[in-house]
Amino acid sequence: MSFLENIYLAGVIGEGGAGFPTHIKYASSPKYLLINGAECEPLLYTDKFQMENYYKEMLAAIQAAKIFLKAERAVLATKKRYEDLIGLFTQEIKDKNYDIEIFSMENFYPAGDEQITIYEAFQKAVPAGGIPLHVDIVVSNIATMKSIYDAQNGIPVTDKYLTVTGEVKEPKVVKVPVGTPLSEVIEKAGGSTLDEYMILTGGPMMGKFVTQEEAEDVVVRKTTGGILIVPKHHALVQRGTKSLTAIKNETRAACIQCSFCTQYCPRYLIGHPLHPHKIMRAFGIHDVYDERFAEALLCCECGICELFACPMNISPRIVNVFLKQELRKNGIRMSFETGPVQPERENRYVPVDRLLSRLDIRKYYDLGKPSYLEIETDQVRIPLGQYIGKPAVPCVKVGDFVEKGTLIGDLPMTDHGSRVHASISGRVTAVDDAVTIVRERRENA
Ligand code: SF4
Ligand code: SF4
Repeated sequence: MSFLENIYLAGVIGEGGAGFPTHIKYASSPKYLLINGAECEPLLYTDKFQMENYYKEMLAAIQAAKIFLKAERAVLATKKRYEDLIGLFTQEIKDKNYDIEIFSMENFYPAGDEQITIYEAFQKAVPAGGIPLHVDIVVSNIATMKSIYDAQNGIPVTDKYLTVTGEVKEPKVVKVPVGTPLSEVIEKAGGSTLDEYMILTGGPMMGKFVTQEEAEDVVVRKTTGGILIVPKHHALVQRGTKSLTAIKNETRAACIQCSFCTQYCPRYLIGHPLHPHKIMRAFGIHDVYDERFAEALLCCECGICELFACPMNISPRIVNVFLKQELRKNGIRMSFETGPVQPERENRYVPVDRLLSRLDIRKYYDLGKPSYLEIETDQVRIPLGQYIGKPAVPCVKVGDFVEKGTLIGDLPMTDHGSRVHASISGRVTAVDDAVTIVRERRENA
């Protein structure tokens, strides 16, 4: 099997959040390979934990990927504060004579965002509405490199590492079978310090809210990077769960058109024509969401505008998320002109410390190094669509016995999607848009 086929067969997708199928991304010939080891979301320790424990495997996979892609340079971007890790990487690169460069960034948000990391590492701005390949770069998350390494040894993606932190008895990095309910992960990781809480999957800035009740049905996916637990009435929850009607009323009543949301927007600062203050002005006036809102398509949903910049507690990010859905629903696509990088950009880095203090989650940053736990479960529900692309087609039926690693969802290599494998050994009890497996010992099969 070839390097690419192994990645496809193992069902590897980008583990940084977007979940783009890696075998599709790597079917290209970029000049540069950029590996993102900067963990964008504050409070998450998932990538750092994996780097500490699997840096040898990751570097081997980066070197193999560089050779496969015939890339001129492979750059591993990380943060200056990961000093210990940089030392490990540097030594291993030297020992193995790898052709990999290390690039380290300051501790600002959103260091680790794909396009911002590209700009920092290569001084190249991805064109507005474009992808990294438009500047001859392929980007992979560092955790994906461990999965690529495993794929070359025939090991499919069945487990996920994620951080469980916030209002928990003890913060942890856990390894958990894909398809495990969030409620079970939280309970087995030691539980919350609170009776009532809200969950953010992914992190404080870009995470999705999940209620305690929903956590029974929401499962860990290949892209899940963290679980942050906050009090039910925390300011993050109040701001992040506001209705659009409430935001529209607030915009009409309180948006002072100060343009701070634009001045701090990382996409605007690298020259993209994204002006959230103008979007908010139009949003306050109009109820038909047409081409005039097209700039919203450029928003990466980083949350700086609403969680750091806006002095009036208004939420341009939520509005942009809504507008993007409406524009796509109405088939509105636009091409955009990219302008020059804004000269004030270097004065607009948002320090992580200040951001966390402002969000009143600084205390979770100080919890210390999380401990590690491998979680076992007796039942998983594995979604056949692990990514916004095409879902896999089930290739098992109710009653089948599967071993951990058995293929349960397949699709052709040319399709934008990923193969799916059983994450525990047991009996298939349901097949719909997911495959449910209940643990069972082989001798009872
Ligand atoms: S920062 Fe807030 S108040 Fe200022 S223009 Fe943007 S949405 Fe309006
Ligand atoms: S969330 Fe706000 S700051 Fe971030 S890219 Fe979108 S508009 Fe810009």
